[in-house]
Amino acid sequence: MSLQFVSQTDPAVAGAITAELARQRSSIELIASENFTSRAVMEAVGSVLTNKYAEGYPGKRYYGGCEKVDAVEDLARDRACELYGSAFANVQPHSGAQANFGAYTALIELGDTVLGMSLDQGGHLTHGSPVNFSGKYYRFAAYGVDSVTETINYDEVLRIAKEVRPRLLVAGASAYPRAIDFERLANIAREVDASFMVDMAHIAGLVATGAHQNPVPFADVVTSTSHKTLRGPRGGFILANDEELAKKIDKAVFPGAQGGPLMHAIAGKAVAFGEALLPEYKTYISHVVENAARLGQGMADGGLRLISGGTDNHLCLVDLTPADVTGKDAERVLEEVGLTVNKNTIPNEPRSPFVTSGIRVGSAAATTRGLNADEFYQVGELIAAAVFNAENETVLKDIARRVNAIIERYPLYPEMG
Ligand SMILES: *Cc1c(COP(=O)(O)O)cnc(C)c1O
Repeated sequence: MSLQFVSQTDPAVAGAITAELARQRSSIELIASENFTSRAVMEAVGSVLTNKYAEGYPGKRYYGGCEKVDAVEDLARDRACELYGSAFANVQPHSGAQANFGAYTALIELGDTVLGMSLDQGGHLTHGSPVNFSGKYYRFAAYGVDSVTETINYDEVLRIAKEVRPRLLVAGASAYPRAIDFERLANIAREVDASFMVDMAHIAGLVATGAHQNPVPFADVVTSTSHKTLRGPRGGFILANDEELAKKIDKAVFPGAQGGPLMHAIAGKAVAFGEALLPEYKTYISHVVENAARLGQGMADGGLRLISGGTDNHLCLVDLTPADVTGKDAERVLEEVGLTVNKNTIPNEPRSPFVTSGIRVGSAAATTRGLNADEFYQVGELIAAAVFNAENETVLKDIARRVNAIIERYPLYPEMG
């Protein structure tokens, strides 16, 4: 990478960045929440926009000299609205968690009851974890997945909603491999007089191209990250159709939760939204979905069990019980052979969240890198082979060699040197 300046002035930081590039290159990235941004996104994020204070919104700033960054934020907002068909967008949240903070602040009062997906069955930290602001400021109740189908049972969600009478129903997940029926959840929210929010952080890329149902027509508020399947810079954004609600969201983000927006990150979001509007991106997402299915098939054929029996999106949740190995050990063994995954709880998890009985694997990053469907199938088989032979160094060495043969076909950021 041309770390022309930092390598001169600060070799310690430059060295760490160079080492991270080498790490990203040396393994197949299967963490479902990660991706590789374009160089164009990186250029925007690494630009002079990091120097500018722009508290407020385009046309209504608290600082002078904001005309140029106003243009950037307008581009980001307009493109987000075009991509998802929403009337309003706020692109200032520094992260997905900040986007959810803004949405909750706009929609409900402190102490209100919220119904969201249980964390150990696929939900996110910001959907009511006791160690997160969401669990501390609001009263969260949870729905999970059906113990037989391992998918959301909408009748059960309705039953719980009638019982707890939430002010807000939250949909969206970090580890759910199936399509979510937002229209049906919106009807449930309406039936109990609750507002409806969708956190599409993981599937935002799929929604952008129609590979997953778009929540925007059904939800009061949609929140997202920009750095997962969407393939933009790290950050968050919020969408809404109602003008009054959009005003509340803007106030909740600034001055409610944040100070100056990260204009360089917003420029990166604008570039990423622009990329996601192109036909190439639609092709990319269709490969992401196909590759996740092939990856799952490879693991299933290798003897592992896919939660819910498969995937409709970019990720698979894998039950490692057939291999008699924990998620924690599998994560370490796979790292050793060049496959980066994360341990994950599975429905009705018998182990602690630090150990777990499962792993979560996604196709978004390695699809960006260029791996094709056949290679994803092979990677699935190699994952299964590695976890079934977690103690066999000879087998693991052979798997590492085969992983490396795939990696060498797809140089990552080759122009970075
Ligand atoms: C990743 C994720 C978030 C949080 O995003 P951060 O940028 O890490 O704060 C929120 N909700 C869901 C469902 C996610 O998967």
